[in-house]
Amino acid sequence: MSAVIMDGKALGIKIRQSVKERALALKEKGIVPCLGVILVGDDPASLSYVKSKEKALAEAGMESRDIRLPESTSEEELLSIIDELNKDDKVHGILVQAPVPKHINEEKINDAVSPKKDVDCFHPESVGNMILGRRTFLPCTPHGVLELLREYNIPISGAHAVVVGRSNIVGKPLVNLLIRRQYNATVTLCHTGTKDLSYHTLQADILIAAAGSPCFIKPDMIKKGAVVIDVGINRVTDISEPKGYRLCGDVDPAVSLKASYYTPVPGGVGPMTIAMLLNNVIEAANTDCVNAVCVKAAY
Ligand code: NAD
Repeated sequence: MSAVIMDGKALGIKIRQSVKERALALKEKGIVPCLGVILVGDDPASLSYVKSKEKALAEAGMESRDIRLPESTSEEELLSIIDELNKDDKVHGILVQAPVPKHINEEKINDAVSPKKDVDCFHPESVGNMILGRRTFLPCTPHGVLELLREYNIPISGAHAVVVGRSNIVGKPLVNLLIRRQYNATVTLCHTGTKDLSYHTLQADILIAAAGSPCFIKPDMIKKGAVVIDVGINRVTDISEPKGYRLCGDVDPAVSLKASYYTPVPGGVGPMTIAMLLNNVIEAANTDCVNAVCVKAAY
């Protein structure tokens, strides 16, 4: 039997609709939620991510302050622009599209964004609060994964979740959220230093792949009936496609014959990330919310 496809696109639309209604309610109070979106350089993938975020903001009745900077922008210039946005009351959230050019220290950039506007949850203060279970914006992709699991009534409490990938934006925060009492999973985190990856993935009730390696999770690496969440978005060359490439996840779609639930790429976790970003911008703009922070999505 084939797995249930977890439709992140449909859930993303539902969340975005609710965000739109909340944006409208804020507008009636004279607040127009606005995200400062900074892109340095002209990396095509980054440009396409930024454009889709700006389009989503506009569709949800919010504004974006689009700032495009040349590759040659210095670290000081970028820090000064972030400082201006930090001080601008009309800008509620700030996003600096990663990666920044190599001559700019990404840590300094993450540290410069005010935690009150840190809708990506990259600032060390935000990350610390998230780990401690204190109020903060939740990181968008991990939050999107959890919302997908919730939407499909996947039992998380007591489940063994195996996360593959230890990045600061997906793997690490996801592990920290999954172990919260609210979710109550038992978690294994795998990474490039893990010996015998299959030994671990085969034990997963919930397997979450975020390694950035195309289709490397194969059917023989998962337990029958597992829930498989594919965070990976990889461009692979395909000359039959008009753009010369196609997108694929970290999971071989053939696992859908063995899994119970499965997220497609595209259309799974990707649209959830944008939806949760919009949700954080609304939370940031909502002055009724002390410190403009969000623990639990209000949609
Ligand atoms: P990254 O590229 O920074 O790090 C990858 C991690 O995976 C590393 O920690 C590494 O230890 C681990 N890893 C790599 N290959 C492995 C292997 N063979 N076995 C075990 N561990 C391995 O990670 P990232 O930024 O979290 O991105 C991961 C993937 O998720 C990428 O494809 C990225 O495009 C995608 N992504 C998607 C979204 C979304 O919205 N769906 C958001 C962020 C990232």
